[in-house]
Formats: sequence, structure tokens, C-alpha cells
Amino acid sequence: MMMKPEDCYVAVGADVLTEAFVAADKVPNHSRSMQGARMLDKPFAEWAPRLFAERSCKPLALYVHVPFCRHRCLFCPFYQNRSNDTFSAWYADLLMRHLELVEDALGKGSACRPVDAVFFGGGTPSDLNAPDLARVLRRLKSLFAISDETEVTIEGRIRDFTPDKVKAWRDAGANRFSLGIQSTDEALRRRLGRLAGREEMLKVLGSLADSGAVLIVDLIFGLPGQTPELLREDLRFLAEETRIDGLDLYELIQFPNSPLTKAVESGRLGAPLGRAERARMFGAAHEALAGYGFEHFTPQHWRRGSRERSVYNRLAKSNADILPIGSSAGGNLSRVSMMMERNIDTYAEKINEGIIPARCLAPTAPMSDEERFKTRLAEAAERCELPPLSRWPQQAHAWAAPLLENWMEVGLIKSPVDQDGAFALTVAGAYWIKIIQRMLMACLTPMHAESSNGYPGGHRGGAHGHPGGGHPQGNRPAGSGAGVGQHSSHAGTRG
Ligand code: SF4
Repeated sequence: MMMKPEDCYVAVGADVLTEAFVAADKVPNHSRSMQGARMLDKPFAEWAPRLFAERSCKPLALYVHVPFCRHRCLFCPFYQNRSNDTFSAWYADLLMRHLELVEDALGKGSACRPVDAVFFGGGTPSDLNAPDLARVLRRLKSLFAISDETEVTIEGRIRDFTPDKVKAWRDAGANRFSLGIQSTDEALRRRLGRLAGREEMLKVLGSLADSGAVLIVDLIFGLPGQTPELLREDLRFLAEETRIDGLDLYELIQFPNSPLTKAVESGRLGAPLGRAERARMFGAAHEALAGYGFEHFTPQHWRRGSRERSVYNRLAKSNADILPIGSSAGGNLSRVSMMMERNIDTYAEKINEGIIPARCLAPTAPMSDEERFKTRLAEAAERCELPPLSRWPQQAHAWAAPLLENWMEVGLIKSPVDQDGAFALTVAGAYWIKIIQRMLMACLTPMHAESSNGYPGGHRGGAHGHPGGGHPQGNRPAGSGAGVGQHSSHAGTRG
């Protein structure tokens, strides 16, 4: 679908929260496109060290991907490999070897840039054994300039956070835990294959809060069988009975052929909620969270107090460097995108041969105004804003000014405080922000709107709700589909 600016107008008088963009599902997803790019055929060690050193004043994050899960969650299209009793030591050994190769490539340069954030995402990083994840984290600390100020996040599931793991990972330097809870309603959780009940949640969340780490949980809205009342009760429970510092609220998106879609089609699950119901739930959740003293921090994220900084999430949406480690990890150095081999067996083979198996895509042209604006737009969106008109590409000014007027009139954005001010998103604007981003980029670069150009993608954030494009239910650039390796044969326990 080609987008024109006039397609982006919202009818005055429409319910802006539920009806702003009725054709939203047809808006092209621009997140994968990169104009004028070519595959790099040189090994990582030949091109990365110079670029890494040249960018010494830019923010830097390390992303470690753990593409293993105990079982496949019904709603998740990003499941890759099943974990078993032996995967942890095996995969941690591979990560250690991967880091050795990074050290060989970067030499002393690795410690020359301060690291702003480290993120263990998945998959399910918390499924790693206590000593295995701890030794990988310690190795990262010995190799890179990671300080007490660096945000170090481990993502995972309730049942994995046993006291020995929490202690080992805190001792090794983790200071932020992010848990994919999805819902606190026990019946709904059971239908999704999540077995931990509220009592267990309280115990685990209590011990994580006692550890002194920043504590974040993810919820999904729009699940089959979920009502506005159930979501309200989730929020009450988490706000009043736990000491969480932050909460992500992700909208369910149904992918064709996903286990969820199949369960709905076979009648095992009721239909997920429609767009208007989901939008209303988002609005009601926002109101409830404000009532509990949470600040709307990014479009999908609320925080209580200032301990939660969401450093990694913000960096992943900016032009910071993200160094990827592990099978399927995605990242970038400057404008060179990287994705590590997705097939776990091939990844292991290459790493054991002493090769960093990265697919890298480099730009062939200087950064265009549109590309620059795309980053600016993403960074502003993370602050719940749209950039001031003066920061839009010149070619867009003629159509952007009246469009922004329309969006102010209908209540998607607020008037800036001065001529050079940003436009703050309203609650409706925050709900529609991903569609707004896609529409604007499709209007700016229509020729490229539906082409992926082979962008390597890769996971830049965890499947339980974070960055690089969001939750699996969101718009993360990577897809699933890595091969299932030798660690796929044992049934896992459910969390
Ligand atoms: S939601 Fe997390 S644990 Fe579940 S299948 Fe997806 S990546 Fe694995």
C-alpha cells in the first residue's frame, strides 16, 4: 500500500483513541528498509575495530541473546530452540568463546569505550544456570568498560528467578531484572501455558525487590479471554502488592500460523480482542497507572520513581552502537547492521572454528535526510513526542505542517510550548505511535516502503518485551525461524 500525506489525516469528530487510523493494519512496515546497502564480505575482525574506535564518543550497549526457551508460549512467534538440562553450560561456553573472538578482534580497544547498558535478552536468559550466566557477565566486565552506572538487565520468567540465581547474578553485576508476566490472572495464564500463580509471583517479585535491583514486568493486553476488568486487576495487584519499578504494556498482535492463531482457529481459544477494544484497554490502563503514581515514560512503558532509566531500550531506538553477542543477536556499529548466525548448530560450528558468524550489511551512500529523520522520530517517540517541525526533512515541511495541525485538532498530539518545541503525544498518540511512525516514513520514502533489502535484522531486545523494535507482539525487525539444534529434543517445564 502506497501512503500519501492525505491518507494520514484523522477525521475530525472520530474517537481518536479507537478510530484514528482504521486502515492501520495496511500501513507498510518500514522498519526493515535500508536504502543502498550491501553485504560485507570481510570478517568482523577486519572492519569492526576501526569503526568501534572511531565511534568512541557515541553511546554503546552490549546485547547478549539466549535463543532457548523451556517451551513455546502460545502467543510468541519468536521461539527458536528448546532448552534442556545441558544447554546452559554448552551455550555459556559458546558465549565465552564468542567473547574471546571479540577480544582478539578489538584488542585493548574493547575497554576504551564506556558501556551504557548490557542486556541479556531472549528467548529466556533466566533459563541459564546461575554460574553460567554469572561467568558470561563477569567476562563481559573484564573485557569492556562496564561500571556501577551501567544498566545491566537480565530478562526472564518468574519460575527461573530462584534465590541462588538472583544472588549469583546480582553478585556478578546485574542491576535490573525484567520479567515477562503477561497477565497475573491464574486462569488466563494457565490457558497461555504459564503456570506460576499469584502467590509464587509475590514471592519471586518480593525476593527480586529485596535484592535491590530495578524490577520491571511486562503485561500483554488483547489476549483471548482477557477483559478490561482482568487487566485493571493486574495493574492493581502489581501496583499495590509488589514493589515493581516499571511496567511494560504490550499489545497482542496475532501472526499468521502462530500457535495462538492455530488455537483460535481450532476453537481451543476464543478470539483475541479487536483493535477498538484493545485501544480502550490501553486508555483505561494509562488512567489506572497514573492513579497508582506511575509516570508514562515511553509509549509502552510506565515507571514508578526514578530508579528505572530504561537505558538499553532508549539506546536501541537511537543511533547508539549495539554490539551483538550470541546466536541470533542483532546490533549495529554506526550504520553497519549485524546479525549473528540464527541456526544454533551453525553458530556453534563457526564459533568453535574461531569465526564470528555475523551477517553484516553496510550502507553504500551517505545517510539521507529520511534515514536521519527515522532515527530522530524513533528517539522522540521514546520520549512520547514527535520532533519539532524544524527537525523534519525540508521536503516534508509543506505537507507536515497541516498534517500536524490536524493531529493537534483531533487530539493525537499537543501544541508545542514554543515554535521549536516538540509535540507531546496524548494517550491516543502513544497508542498509535508505531502506526504514525510507519505512515510518516512511508510518505517520505514511498519507493522503499515495502522492501526489506535483505536487512539482517536480528534480536536486539528480549522476547519478553524489550527494545530493538519491541515485543514479539510488536514490530521487532527480526523474525523467527532459526534452525532447531541439538538442544531441541527434551520437553521443558513450564514457567
Ligand atoms: S515468550 Fe519468551 S519464553 Fe515464550 S516462546 Fe517467546 S521467547 Fe520463549
